Amino acid sequence: MEPDLLAPLFAPLTTLRGVGPTLAALLKRACGGERVIDLLFHLPESFIDRRERLSLRALVPGKMATVAVEVVRIEPPANARQPTKAIVGDGTGFRELVFFKGFPRAKLLPGAKVLVSGKVDERGNMVHPDHIFPLDQADRLPGVEPVWGLTAGLFAWQLRRPVAEALDRIPDLPEWHDPALLTREAWPGFADALRDLHAPPAPPPPLLRRRLAYDELLAGQVALALVRRRVRERPGRALLGDGALRRKALAAFGHRLTPAQTESLREIDADLAAPRRMLRLLQGDVGSGKTLVAILAMLRAVEAGAQAALLAPTEVLAQQHFRTLERIAPVPAALFTGSIKGAARARVLAGLADGSIPLIVGTHALFQEKVEYHDLALAVIDEQHRFGVDQRLLMGRKGATADVLVMTATPIPRTLLLTQWGEMQVSLLSGKPAGRKPVRTTLHSLATLPDVTDAVARALEGGARVYWVCPLVAESELLDVAAAEARFATLHERFHGAVGLAHGRQEGAVREAALADFAAGRTRVLVATTVIEVGVDVPEASVMVVEHAERFGLAQLHQLRGRVGRGREASFCLLLHDDGLSDIAKRRLLLLRDTEDGFRIADEDFRLRGGGDLLGTRQSGLPGWRLADPVEDEGLLHMAGRDAEVLLQRDPRLVSDRGRAVRVLLKLFERTAAMRTLHSG
Ligand code: ADP
Ligand code: MG
Repeated sequence: MEPDLLAPLFAPLTTLRGVGPTLAALLKRACGGERVIDLLFHLPESFIDRRERLSLRALVPGKMATVAVEVVRIEPPANARQPTKAIVGDGTGFRELVFFKGFPRAKLLPGAKVLVSGKVDERGNMVHPDHIFPLDQADRLPGVEPVWGLTAGLFAWQLRRPVAEALDRIPDLPEWHDPALLTREAWPGFADALRDLHAPPAPPPPLLRRRLAYDELLAGQVALALVRRRVRERPGRALLGDGALRRKALAAFGHRLTPAQTESLREIDADLAAPRRMLRLLQGDVGSGKTLVAILAMLRAVEAGAQAALLAPTEVLAQQHFRTLERIAPVPAALFTGSIKGAARARVLAGLADGSIPLIVGTHALFQEKVEYHDLALAVIDEQHRFGVDQRLLMGRKGATADVLVMTATPIPRTLLLTQWGEMQVSLLSGKPAGRKPVRTTLHSLATLPDVTDAVARALEGGARVYWVCPLVAESELLDVAAAEARFATLHERFHGAVGLAHGRQEGAVREAALADFAAGRTRVLVATTVIEVGVDVPEASVMVVEHAERFGLAQLHQLRGRVGRGREASFCLLLHDDGLSDIAKRRLLLLRDTEDGFRIADEDFRLRGGGDLLGTRQSGLPGWRLADPVEDEGLLHMAGRDAEVLLQRDPRLVSDRGRAVRVLLKLFERTAAMRTLHSG
């Protein structure tokens, strides 16, 4: 492949004629990137068909129309606030072209014959028509006009030239799809599809976008398949154990494994015992008992004479996992986070290096810093759904041959699993540990806040412990905190010292103390932001109040709800929402009320929000799609998965003609980490 075949597409937008820094900034805001390719991937959202000419009499208010007319006379404005009007006629009637500013005097001289295209207003006139051309230049009118997503200050006409030039920049690219597929689907080439979407001679058929969506999906699936192959090829080690440590840990834990835990552990053990690397995702609903499974897996590594590490996304979670580990593990365990300093830190580092600490729990510090292990055989990564494939690939490099178990408590929709986690084996922990009670979920208008507070008061009298979660405000942590502090103040007035406060802006120690007070029952209402979303485990808490529930993602609400229903008490989740919810918002909350099945919630939420709306993926930090819609294009996604497998079976190093073309495709969609697996054999 020519090394810079794609260079013209990756060049900055400012390399296009007529695009200066100002326009480039606007374009960047509209299309999400600052390179030529980003503009090309900013596909039109719809198309205006101006090809049909109508007589003035046939105009329909509210519709687009194109008319050939003669200018009869100009009506100047009576005062500065009045518009200038051109009265036009065509033999079937007369209409007005109305201009509040910028009257195109030269084009609309009385007697001029013009072609006018624009939207007809309710009185049958046109206010600021989109196009006016002299009738003898009628061919300048775009027959079908693409409508691109814009941003404040950016107008459609400003996109036309840059887009046209960007289209001209598309180099001669090899075709990366199977010819049989192209014939079957009647798909044009990549460049033709882009051209016919951005500069359509006729309203483009849906198959054009599908072709491009398939390009993107295939790039993703080939990348995953490459990573998957790479993982399978890589040697690992067989971890075997006699179960002695596990038996002791389970005895200390005091409960038997649930059937789902047993099954997951069996799958994990099979991976650990095999002489290749494990890369497994343990998907388990909130409270399904993943931590215990993880700890038992870690003890298997220790039984085999090696070390195991557990990586948590936050310090709070790391501490919590550490407490569990300390309580049940029959061998030494240590905690390693950013706040462990000085001699304590040195002790842990030394213990890891000489192997006297077989079990370690920590935050990212564990992998980012120069931590030396005596013999790390298993890394468990908790709630790391924020990582994309490429990052996981990099992470794998650090741990050389260590087995990797990723745990996620956020159920991942099927389509996302396929696109983002396709290189992993998946274990499912369904159901909850025995004895967990269902959580009764109810919806309440925020207008009934006083009643909700009364209900909380009654629950407190009955001995309950209550989480009170404050809304997300405009994605600003500061405002979240303000809301939480205000709620804390009002609840404090009523319940006094029984109320605590925890949020992300507090010093770690202050927040820790607030959580600890609540866990110990010294406070019984905990007002919090979403810092309590993941992992916080207080079995005595049985009531969860969420303000402005409509502002949260469903998966997030489900996580929050999972904080209760952990103990013996019957548990409740009260979702407070704005009046005047949109239909979708209402349906989302009802779904949550009606089911506790996290997987169903994740799938449905993904659907309700629409895969094209990347909120769902953005929230979890997963890369989004630019051309494909994983929900609408699910069929294509499966096709691409099979296509990728077959391709790599035939041509694992991508050296055939098609293979080399697919390399271009990978580069085009920036699947570069996956590409590297091809070189570093
Ligand atoms: P997750 O991490 O999947 O959200 P946890 O591992 O935190 O779930 O487990 C939730 C709660 O269930 C914890 O209090 C844990 O001690 C308890 N638990 C886990 N496994 C079992 C089991 N087999 N029997 C009884 N309780 C269990
Ligand atoms: Mg957990």
